Amino acid sequence: MIPTTPGAITFVEVGPRDGLQNEKTLVSTADKLELIRRSIDAGARRIEVTSFVNPKRVPQMADADDVCAALPQTEGVSYIGLVLNARGAERAIATGTLHELGAVCVASDRFAMANQGQTSDESVDSAKAIVAMAQAAGLKGQVTIGASFGCPFEGEVSEDRVVAMATRLAAANPIEIGLADTIGVADPAHVARLVARVVEAVGPIPVRVHFHNTRGTGIANVWAAVQAGASVVDAALGGLGGCPFAPGAAGNVASEDVVYMLGRAGVNTGMDLGKLVEANHWLAKVMDRKLPAMVAQAPAFPFIQTA
Ligand code: MG
Repeated sequence: MIPTTPGAITFVEVGPRDGLQNEKTLVSTADKLELIRRSIDAGARRIEVTSFVNPKRVPQMADADDVCAALPQTEGVSYIGLVLNARGAERAIATGTLHELGAVCVASDRFAMANQGQTSDESVDSAKAIVAMAQAAGLKGQVTIGASFGCPFEGEVSEDRVVAMATRLAAANPIEIGLADTIGVADPAHVARLVARVVEAVGPIPVRVHFHNTRGTGIANVWAAVQAGASVVDAALGGLGGCPFAPGAAGNVASEDVVYMLGRAGVNTGMDLGKLVEANHWLAKVMDRKLPAMVAQAPAFPFIQTA
């Protein structure tokens, strides 16, 4: 595989869902909507706005229906609702305001059981069924493979296993297949290998990547993934995030840092860095603390990002 740098990628803002889901302090529905509005204003055209999960297990997402009911319907903006089972998919479809359902399957049995009460194989079947439900409802369906690079309970995850899962998922014809480093253990060499293998296995279905910066490798992993053929990249404003079912999982790669890095390297994300930095400062006030993202804390550097 010869690394190549693409001219553009599709950026997905996951802050309203993955950024916030693990925050102990409940963020108001109004502030979630303001985060979504600011993301759109900064250029985001795909936004993971919420998840339809048990509010007892993920209290921060208890207002999923209220968030969806108030989403600004903006030309060209696609809203994603994350769902873990058929009941969640029904709720998400019933909102009438989402454009995509995001399903999740998990690459290890123990994490699949903790995350969604299924074995890994069962989670693949269930994700395929959710994609079919989305398609039947006239929505787009995508699937992310959680713990693709390592499991908080089982340790190493076999690359062959992830490639085989992606191949099975491709049969459901999702709009993309995501590889998530849910607990932030991946390194760039692993990412380059696995992304290249999955791109080869599922092409022309696009490969999406989702990294957490738990151990400082997140941004390097984004670069490795993009050079290996991933065409869709997740990030969360401020670098917030964690997983309620994965002990010790920390923040997502930060939107500001990803947009800065890719923009400087000549990869168009369609995002306005200045507006992201402003949004970071707003979000820091909402959360009442400094956020993990680095670029928003640094002096501005001459930078032109053409949207
Ligand atoms: Mg995540």
